[in-house]
Amino acid sequence: MKVTKAEIVISAVSQKQYPNDMLPEVALAGRSNVGKSSFINKLINRKNLARTSSKPGKTQTLNFYRINDAFYFVDVPGYGYAKVSKTEREKWGKMMEEYFQTRESLKAVLLITDIRHEPTRDDIQMYDFLKHFDLPVVVVATKMDKIPKGKRAKHLKRTIETLQVEQGDLVLPFSAETGEGKDEAWGILNKYL
Ligand code: GDP
Repeated sequence: MKVTKAEIVISAVSQKQYPNDMLPEVALAGRSNVGKSSFINKLINRKNLARTSSKPGKTQTLNFYRINDAFYFVDVPGYGYAKVSKTEREKWGKMMEEYFQTRESLKAVLLITDIRHEPTRDDIQMYDFLKHFDLPVVVVATKMDKIPKGKRAKHLKRTIETLQVEQGDLVLPFSAETGEGKDEAWGILNKYL
C-alpha cells in the first residue's frame, strides 16, 4: 500500500473516545520499548508519526493512527514495566479488556516481540489473552538486525515455542532498522483489511 496520508486521530483512554467511522483496524501489542512505534513509522515511511521511546509512567492510551483514510493502526499501551503500581496495572488491564473484547472493527493483532530475548511471561500472557478473544495474531519478531545470520533460525524457533504459537498464526521476522519484513507485513495486512 502506498501511504499518502497518515494522521493520529485520538489517544483514547475509554471506549467512548474510539473513532466511530467503522474503518478496519489492526492493533499492535507488546512490551514497552519493544519497537511498536518504530514498526508503524517504518510501514508508513514516516520518521516520527508514532511516538518512539515512550517513557515509563507516561499516560497509558490507545493511539489511533488513520492511514490513507482506509484503516487504523492502533498502538496499544506497552506492558512489562516492573515499576508500575498495582492500581496502574489494573487500569491497564481494564482498558485492554474493554478494547479487545468489544471492538468489532478490529481485524488482527500484531504482537511485537524482541527477537534477541526469549518471550517473557507477559508476552505469553498477552498472546493467550488475544487467543482467548479468538483474534488472529501475527507475531512480529522485530530487531532482526541485531541477530547474526547464523542464529536467526534458532531465535525464531525459540519465539514460536515459548509463545506456543497456534497453527495458522504467522511469525514475521522484521527490522525497523533495515526494512526487512516490511513488504511481507503489508502483504499480511492487506489480507486482513
Ligand atoms: P515502543 O515503546 O514499543 O513504541 O518502542 P520504540 O518504537 O520507541 O522503540 C524502542 C527503541 O528500540 C528505540 O530506541 C528504537 O530505535 C529501537 N528499535 C525499534 N525497532 C528496532 C529495530 O528493528 N532494530 C533496532 N536495532 N532498533 C530498534
